[in-house]
Amino acid sequence: MLRSLVHIWMAIFLTAPLFGQHLQRCGTIKYQDDISSSSIFSTTSAWNRGVLGFELVIHVVQMPNQDPISDQQILNQIEVLNAAFMGEQLSQSTIPAAFASSIDIPNFSFCLATQDPDGQPTTGIIRKETEVIHIAATDNIKSSFTGGSDAWDPSRYVNIWIGDTGGLFIGRATFPGAVPEENQGIIMDVNYFGGAADLIGKAPYNLGKTLVHELGHFFGLEHTWGSSLTDCSMDDGIADTPSTASTYLNTCLNEAYTCGSMDMTGNFMTYSNDACLAYFTKGQIALMRLVILQYRPELISTCVGQDIQGADLKTQVKAADLSGWLVQFESANAMDDIQYVLYNLGGQSIVSGSTEANEQVFLPMSNAPRGIYILAVVQGAEKQALKLFR
Ligand SMILES: [Zn+2]
Repeated sequence: MLRSLVHIWMAIFLTAPLFGQHLQRCGTIKYQDDISSSSIFSTTSAWNRGVLGFELVIHVVQMPNQDPISDQQILNQIEVLNAAFMGEQLSQSTIPAAFASSIDIPNFSFCLATQDPDGQPTTGIIRKETEVIHIAATDNIKSSFTGGSDAWDPSRYVNIWIGDTGGLFIGRATFPGAVPEENQGIIMDVNYFGGAADLIGKAPYNLGKTLVHELGHFFGLEHTWGSSLTDCSMDDGIADTPSTASTYLNTCLNEAYTCGSMDMTGNFMTYSNDACLAYFTKGQIALMRLVILQYRPELISTCVGQDIQGADLKTQVKAADLSGWLVQFESANAMDDIQYVLYNLGGQSIVSGSTEANEQVFLPMSNAPRGIYILAVVQGAEKQALKLFR
C-alpha cells in the first residue's frame, strides 16, 4: 500500500513517544514511498541466503571535556550486532511458539573497516573533537563544515556517527535512498552506544540493541506498526509481522494483543526494552536483502581478513580470470571438511562443493555474467563470506 507524506508526518507527530527527559527511543523518520510494496519484493525470496558482511566506519565526535568512548566499547557494540544478526542468542526458548515459523536469522556480519576509501589501512574508527554542543542532535555531525565528520563513501561503508544528542533521541537512521548520499547512515547518542558492560545504569536500553533496531531502518524496515499506531490496516507492509497498534515502549511483555492478533513484542523493530528485543522475521530479512540488492550491492563486504565466526580458516583467491576463480582454503582445523557455495546476487547457487583443508579448488565461471558474487565458506563452527568480482 502506498502511504502519503501527510500520513507519515502525522504518524511521526502523533506517535513519537517520549521517554524520560524527552529522550526518544528512535528518531528515525520515514519520508519515502514504501519499499516493501515494490513489485520486486515478492520475487526475491531466493536472495534470502548466505552470510553478508558489512564494513562499518565509526565517527566518534565529542567535545574536549567529554569522556572519550573507548575502542573496547565500539567492539562491544559490534559484538552485540553480530550476535543479533547472526542469531547467536536466538533459541526456541526466546521465540513465542506462535511465531516459530516466521522467525529467522539474517546472517549479516559487521566488522570495522580495514581499508579507507584510498585503500590505506585503517582501524575503521575516526575520532574528532568538536566545539559544537549537542552535535549529534542534527545532521551537523555528518559534515566537517558543521563541526562533525564527513561520511566515507556510503556505497561501500556503513557510516555510524556517535555524539551527544543532548537527550533528544537514542538512535536515528536514514532510510535507503531517502537522503543525500553523504548523509546516509546512523546517528547514535554517545550514552547508548556499546554493550552491556558499557551501558550500566541505562536500563531499559542498556544492552546495545538500539543500533540493531536502527540498522533495521537503514536496511529498509519500518516499525512493526508501520505509519499509524491507530489504524490496524496501516502496518509495515510485511506479511509475517502481525498488524500492531502499540510501540511497546518501556515494556517487556511476552504476550500482548492488538489488531485482533498476538503482537511480536520481541521484534527488533518495536520499542520494547533491550532485554526483550530478540528477532527479525523471514519477511523482514527478505526485505532487508532486497534493499541491499537494489540500493547498496557494493556495501556487501568481505570484512577483509576477519572471520565471521572462528579464526582458523583463511580463504584466498590464488588466481582469477573470466573462466573462474582458483581458491585455496587454508585452515588449522584438519578434522572438518570445508563446504563452499558461490551465490550470485540473485541468491542462486552457481558452484558448490566440499574439500579438505589446505586444498585448492577451481570455481568455474565461464558462462556466468560479470558482476558481484558471494562465496560462503563453512568449516565446523566457522563461517566466512567473501565478495568476489568478475
Ligand atoms: Zn525506529
